[in-house]
Amino acid sequence: MDPNPKPAVPPKKRRIGVLTSGGDAPGMNGAVRAVVRMALHSDCEAYAVYEGYEGLVNGGNMIRQMHWEDVRGWLSRGGTLIGSARCMSFRERAGRLRAAKNMVLRGIDALVVCGGDGSLTGADVFRAEWSGLLQELVSAGELTEEQIKPYSVLNIVGLVGSIDNDMSGTDATIGCYSSLTRICDAVDDVFDTAYSHQRGFVIEVMGRHCGWLALMSAISTGADWLFIPEIPPRDGWEDDMCASITKNRKERGKRRTIVIVAEGAQDRQLNKISSSTIKDILTQRLGLDTRTTVLGHTQRGGAACAYDRWLSTLQGVEAVRAVLDMTPTSPSPVITIRENKIMRTPLMEAVQATKDVTAKIHAKDFQAAMTLRDPEFKETYRAYLNTATPDHPKMMVSQEKKMRIAIIHVGAPAGGMNQATRAAVAYCLTRGHTALAIHNGFPGLIRHHADKPISSVREVQWLESDSWVNEGGSDIGTNRGLPSEDMEGAAKAFELHKFDALFVVGGFEAFTAVSQLRKARAQYDAFKIPIVVLPATISNNVPGTEYSLGSDTCLNTLIEFCDAIRQSASSSRRRVFVIETQGGQSGYIATTAGLAVGAVAVYIPEEGIDIKMLSRDIDFLRDNFVRDKGANRAGKIILRNECASKTYSTQVIADMIKEEAHGRFESRAAVPGHFQQGGKPSPMDRVRALRMSIKCMQHLESYAGKSREQIAADDMSATVIGVKGSQVLFSPMGGETGLEATETDWERRRPKSEFWLELQDVVNVLSGRTGNRAVD
Ligand code: ATP
Repeated sequence: MDPNPKPAVPPKKRRIGVLTSGGDAPGMNGAVRAVVRMALHSDCEAYAVYEGYEGLVNGGNMIRQMHWEDVRGWLSRGGTLIGSARCMSFRERAGRLRAAKNMVLRGIDALVVCGGDGSLTGADVFRAEWSGLLQELVSAGELTEEQIKPYSVLNIVGLVGSIDNDMSGTDATIGCYSSLTRICDAVDDVFDTAYSHQRGFVIEVMGRHCGWLALMSAISTGADWLFIPEIPPRDGWEDDMCASITKNRKERGKRRTIVIVAEGAQDRQLNKISSSTIKDILTQRLGLDTRTTVLGHTQRGGAACAYDRWLSTLQGVEAVRAVLDMTPTSPSPVITIRENKIMRTPLMEAVQATKDVTAKIHAKDFQAAMTLRDPEFKETYRAYLNTATPDHPKMMVSQEKKMRIAIIHVGAPAGGMNQATRAAVAYCLTRGHTALAIHNGFPGLIRHHADKPISSVREVQWLESDSWVNEGGSDIGTNRGLPSEDMEGAAKAFELHKFDALFVVGGFEAFTAVSQLRKARAQYDAFKIPIVVLPATISNNVPGTEYSLGSDTCLNTLIEFCDAIRQSASSSRRRVFVIETQGGQSGYIATTAGLAVGAVAVYIPEEGIDIKMLSRDIDFLRDNFVRDKGANRAGKIILRNECASKTYSTQVIADMIKEEAHGRFESRAAVPGHFQQGGKPSPMDRVRALRMSIKCMQHLESYAGKSREQIAADDMSATVIGVKGSQVLFSPMGGETGLEATETDWERRRPKSEFWLELQDVVNVLSGRTGNRAVD
């Protein structure tokens, strides 16, 4: 390759460069893969700039054209395969001058930068100086007017890749959930030893200026105490911490004590609070056998979790779309996410807001720092306090507002059910309500009511629910049975136990159950209480939400399965694995997993399977294996939802592929089955369980003191909480515009319109199934 090509005529196609900069983060490879493949799909050329800005400054072989196959298999790789560096010379104008020259010489007129706020600031400085840099290069005789003419505008798009999640304007950065997963795995392991020896553990996590990792890991592991930079504890915190921990151990019988401290934790005078200081306090004042664990760089390592693969892929695709949409006057965007919606935000606004947070912390204006952080962060912090310090006198409601809140699980188990219940119980105890767990769903409630009245409904206390913090499944028992099996019995049980409100955690059956109760209000006054559904199902098929608890845990389980099975083929012959996913009549899990593992094709019930489709895909595979020169012999994955076709079963498809391959490659069927419903809940499911559960409790509480008739007349008294685009909302079940009438496909047990269907296109584009490219 000529290291110094001088294109006299600018390329007709865009040449898009991509680099990763700052600290590495899991998911950066997914972003590069998506940028490269989306660029190629859009008839542009893609260039990887190696070692961050270092590669831009040095040019030559550090800027390499990328082809479709170059990024094969990158989704499952940790770190960043194109390297990252902290580049001092790019901080100087002279360095940026060299970078500008290299870009013009290579004909690159758009740059996607994946990094933290420092890297994105650098990108914006570069963009702002761009025309001045070019003029200077011409004046110095390094480039000619003719050479720079086509490059008058530099398009920059930012992707936030950082484990800290410290960028304002986005709920999550690429890498933060993977890092949180590493932390939670470590703390879950420490749990066992802490429990066995009744020990205390002080665990230090990353986050110099941002407490996101510390806060989310404290929530996910039920930590007793938390230190984050944004909200230093009040003076005398040592006494507060010791008193709270003593209470947890003595009064609530907790055998283990976990304190999470962000590396940037400080007191109100900005003096560092270190993990060893905390350890000494616990040891000396409480005589607690306390150990310190500094998690360090393990937090950065490993493959990206499902969410980071999904996020980096969709954001990489969006970055290329943004490049193609940009006009000479468009401000540079950074690709962000709010709840479930990928968005574009002005880059400098996001960077400025991030810097403002740090400035406010330095100025000891902690209130303002917290306000400048994302609303989600603030809300989640409050939610943590609600559950970490139950029975705090200031938080109690007045006597007449105290409620008896029943909690029930309906349907198949899903990760996050226990966490949602734990959070609801802790909230109830904090506020002075009574939390009643209904064991084994509606059949449990009805049956036990008839036989031995009280046994299926039990008041839950703090300690019992505390251990649910990291457990999968449903501890109180879940059941698919519906109240319609004995509506009268259900009504009697509601009356007997004096339920004032009902919190239902579960999937489509939970939705159906609440619909039945709502409709039965006409006959039974007992059901005229506020009822809310918190969707929890791996199928993610509940109307009113784009996200259900448990779906993230299931995705992580599935990608682990796919990664392992794919790797198993690396040393043997070439193989295609046809893997069957659960999901009922909804192809959500199959499609999202397909996106996260780079599947060749995904078969879903919404589209069905026909012979033409199979024939095309077999041709596609055949062609692909011919072009595969053996650089990457890992297996290829096809995902098939369990209900995608009655005729073309997973085994039949695998057999057809094998037959048609004529010995050039093999095919195998694999069914992970109930493996998909098990495992420890992912941190995302744990955190969202807490946040959404507390919102549900607050919603139920808002009905305190209302009459049964007022409640029945209010459509919002039977609702579903859900993520809808960029918001978390309650949607009414009944009424003309309610979910039951407008959004539910009752026959197929899924929402009428499924937000994720468009992701099928992304899977197809990035696997090359759309267009004529090689597959992953
Ligand atoms: P992390 O969140 O992991 O710290 P970061 O992107 O914030 O990532 P930095 O070390 O701050 O990491 O920045 C990475 C690189 O970006 C720097 O080494 C430098 O090359 C470039 N950079 C940062 N700030 C600027 C700036 N103000 N002007 C020019 N370049 C910059």
